[in-house]
Amino acid sequence: ELELRDLRKTFRSRGRPPVDAVRGIDLALRSGELLGLLGPSGCGKSTTLRMIAGLESVSGGDILVGGTSVIDRPAQARNIGVAFENYALYPPLTVAENLAFGLKARRGNARGDVQRKVAEIADRVDLTGILDARPAGLSSGQKQRVSLARALVREPDVLLLDEPLSHLDAAQRDTTRRELKRIQRDLGHTTILVTHDQEEALSLADRIAVMKDGVIQQIGTPYEIYDSPANLFVADFVGEPA
Ligand code: ATP
Ligand code: MG
Repeated sequence: ELELRDLRKTFRSRGRPPVDAVRGIDLALRSGELLGLLGPSGCGKSTTLRMIAGLESVSGGDILVGGTSVIDRPAQARNIGVAFENYALYPPLTVAENLAFGLKARRGNARGDVQRKVAEIADRVDLTGILDARPAGLSSGQKQRVSLARALVREPDVLLLDEPLSHLDAAQRDTTRRELKRIQRDLGHTTILVTHDQEEALSLADRIAVMKDGVIQQIGTPYEIYDSPANLFVADFVGEPA
């Protein structure tokens, strides 16, 4: 469903040495699979997701969705749902309008269908009480849940989540995590989830990829990663399961 072939990114800015942020990633996700992407700060996780989403140009390699290269398509034409920290909600729109935005235009959806879909997802991620609020009036945890809902509501081919639960308190993280898993399983989204929370990765992911310096060090089931780390870095990084 989603395949990365030797994907690369070098950032070049004037007067600075180039930064090789992503140095050849090969990855194939089955349809409906949830991959947890782990690795230290600066290893290239967000850059990888941004390239898949079409928010960052690619320096080399290819990205295939359903067997077709999407590398020349703009972000809007990729049918990829994203929940990123810096991927802002539209301030003038209410929460409900933010969720409906894009859903309408894209498939010529009937208005009733859009509203039903928005209500269903809002209910599942607990936004029902704030549907008429505007982003500026929300807590960071609420914004994060709106971003997640906005990514889900479009029923994308691929879902990319960059630390989607980091601003939630422990209790809410627990319930949202469970609901996310249920929705992902029900709707069969092929998903990459970046997280610093190993418990989150363990409880959600079908497979885990551990990244370092722009390269994937190991990819496997949570059991394989914890039980047979490929090298010292992976062993150190994942440590003992929580
Ligand atoms: P974190 O866990 O802290 O979010 P990350 O794994 O998401 O880290 P990236 O944000 O992908 O890391 O960054 C990878 C590397 O690319 C870092 O060295 C970073 O400084 C560099 N980088 C990211 N964006 C840019 C940019 N726009 N211009 C120059 N360098 C960048
Ligand atoms: Mg990041």
